[in-house]
Amino acid sequence: MTNHIKNIAILGSTGSIGTQTLEVIRNNSNLFRAFLLTAHSNADLLISQAIEFEPEYAIICDVNKYAEVKAALAHLPVKVLAGHQAIIDTVTHPDIVVVLTAMVGFAGLEPTIAAIKAGKDIALANKETLVVAGEIVTGLAKQHDVKILPVDSEHSAIFQCLAGEELNNIEKIILTASGGPFRGRSADFLANVTREDALKHPNWVMGAKITIDSASLMNKGLEVIEAKWLFDVEADQIEVIVHPQSIVHSLVQFHDGSIKAQMGLPDMKLPIQHALSYPNRLQNDFKRFNFTSYPNLTFEKPDMDTFRNLSLAYAALRQGGNMPCIINAANEIAVAGFLNRSIGFLAMSNVIEECMQHIPFIAQPTLTDYLNTDKETRIFAQNVINKLPIKAIQF
Ligand code: NDP
Ligand code: MG
Repeated sequence: MTNHIKNIAILGSTGSIGTQTLEVIRNNSNLFRAFLLTAHSNADLLISQAIEFEPEYAIICDVNKYAEVKAALAHLPVKVLAGHQAIIDTVTHPDIVVVLTAMVGFAGLEPTIAAIKAGKDIALANKETLVVAGEIVTGLAKQHDVKILPVDSEHSAIFQCLAGEELNNIEKIILTASGGPFRGRSADFLANVTREDALKHPNWVMGAKITIDSASLMNKGLEVIEAKWLFDVEADQIEVIVHPQSIVHSLVQFHDGSIKAQMGLPDMKLPIQHALSYPNRLQNDFKRFNFTSYPNLTFEKPDMDTFRNLSLAYAALRQGGNMPCIINAANEIAVAGFLNRSIGFLAMSNVIEECMQHIPFIAQPTLTDYLNTDKETRIFAQNVINKLPIKAIQF
């Protein structure tokens, strides 16, 4: 193992994945340095992270918070910048080795592309980037010979199962899903759930957007599309199975029928650490899994009729083109609408479906097409929400 310190850029350092990445770096300061930290608007946390880790750069997207961050870090040799474009420009810095993408949603796309073009390996948490423009992103990664190392626990599991199997064909990938807080519930029940109910995930503590996506199974839908691009498989080769204990993180079945699984307690620090240290594994003191504490590991079929988002994501993957970009943008607006109580839980799928039907389909989109599709879909989705009957609104 090399002792050379790896400079890491953490895009979204103030979030759930970002703070856990900093924990991994704190525990391995002989191996990693936080070189660049970014936040959307949480100036206080960005400031305290920058004071502790003394990165080369701290970037706040919200330009109104720039003066505050700049003043608080004036006594340190940390360069403070502001705005989305500053992130795109700075991820290309020659000293950065790995860019860990942990911001939420479409906002991750342009910085990730800039980093790949500059030859940086990507530790990818921001799955929306691959959902929106998987073909372009994976094509650029090949062209620039950079690795995309999955941080998402399911994809990290698959990546680990594929080690040493380069010559062998994947028959199918089995993605596990916890089922979220509403597993086994009917559509009647879902019609009345609130944002507070949906934010209570049984196994993982995560940011608000992905927690709602987990409750609606859209997170699994986005992960199906993410798996297609990461592992070069077709929709029919990706199966989703509900596993409420979240111990088996995912599985690969090879062409001889043999299945490999990766297991462990649900803790995102493990896939984060794996992506940062790859191809090495680092010793740590994370809590260990014990079979006798989990005598019953169970598996069941997902209910794709009640949790329609998963079916919609499969449909978008099969249609291809800009359709996954459409469902991603529609979903971001629908989740925001649910979180601010403008729409009910089930209406999220209606918003997504309307966008799929009405936004013009493009079979071979360019990056500009994706940017335009994203903008157009957001406006359309917001209009759908504004026109929804009052009964769809949560109180
Ligand atoms: P959080 O909401 O906890 O954190 C998001 C981070 O991104 C924060 O630093 C936030 O800044 C920043 N951010 C939010 N919006 C923007 C924007 N428009 N532009 C720039 N920065 C922005 O999210 P998570 O950490 O839960 O998730 C991050 C990504 O990782 C998502 O794509 C998610 O799907 C993926 N992921 C997360 C997992 C988890 O366990 N949390 C598991 C697997 C994947 P600020 O704090 O200032 O708002
Ligand atoms: Mg996941």
